[in-house]
Amino acid sequence: MTVPTLTLNDGHTIPQLGFGVFQVDPAEAERIVSVALEAGYRHIDTAAVYGNEEGVGRAIAASGVPRDELFITTKLWNSEQGRDTARPAIESSLEKLGLDYVDLYLIHWPRPDKDRYVETWQQLETFQAEGLSRSIGVSNFHQPHLQRLFDETDTVPAVNQIELHPAFAQRELRAFQEPKGVLTESWGPLGQGKYDLFGEKAVADAAAAHGVSPAQVVIRWHLQEGLIVFPKSSTPERIVTNFDVFGFELTADEVSAIGALDRGQRVGADPDTAT
Ligand code: NAD
Repeated sequence: MTVPTLTLNDGHTIPQLGFGVFQVDPAEAERIVSVALEAGYRHIDTAAVYGNEEGVGRAIAASGVPRDELFITTKLWNSEQGRDTARPAIESSLEKLGLDYVDLYLIHWPRPDKDRYVETWQQLETFQAEGLSRSIGVSNFHQPHLQRLFDETDTVPAVNQIELHPAFAQRELRAFQEPKGVLTESWGPLGQGKYDLFGEKAVADAAAAHGVSPAQVVIRWHLQEGLIVFPKSSTPERIVTNFDVFGFELTADEVSAIGALDRGQRVGADPDTAT
């Protein structure tokens, strides 16, 4: 199965569909990521704070998949933001992952209360220049946070990874960042199971029409919206079916019916106030 790729603003490419490992038990991470790699995923999204980088690294090493076929993202945790703390943090992540470089390194949350994300971003620019991360980006940044990076630094983030699912479609932020070259990654793409997304008529009708699961419909919606998406599951059958989304296509009407579920419903923390 060939996963489409998107080109980042620095010229590197990213597989549009990946595998997320938030809340994957560190003791289970190697086994679960191995299932995902076996199923064909080549893009893995982890973070220092998930505590499972070592398991992800072991699965990568055991897979035998050539490094240049993989796209590995990890993230700098809030407590490590700053001029002196970011470098030991990326070095620790690389060591745990068993890698010389990651494909994408993100500032996990802006933490505007700390006011260190601009100087932290300048550190990420250095990491990219040194080859510790091929591409650099941010996560959970709102317009004013992005604007400060545009105004005060030399590099436009390759991506902004934000909460995004049909009930929280983030149209305003997307309309701001995408014309500036920042691709959008959807976290919590299935709403983290926190509302009955799969019971919504637009989703259920499309699933019935195509003979697929509601989760496959929602993943397909993200892909057809031009988003980068990495659903998480610890269940092998779901890991496999969540990747099996290239044998059907939603109609334009189905895409817009699912998009009409947008009601500004956040399921996670608000980046302006998250601590
Ligand atoms: P998600 O929307 O992917 O939901 C995951 C949950 O959906 C699973 O625990 C499971 O209960 C359910 N699920 C998965 N596949 C299913 C299927 N086929 N049928 C029925 N239910 C299914 O939520 P997520 O894990 O929070 O988000 C995906 C990834 O995004 C994470 O693993 C992580 O990599 C990233 N993320 C990033 C941030 C951030 O702040 N940057 C925050 C949260 C998540």
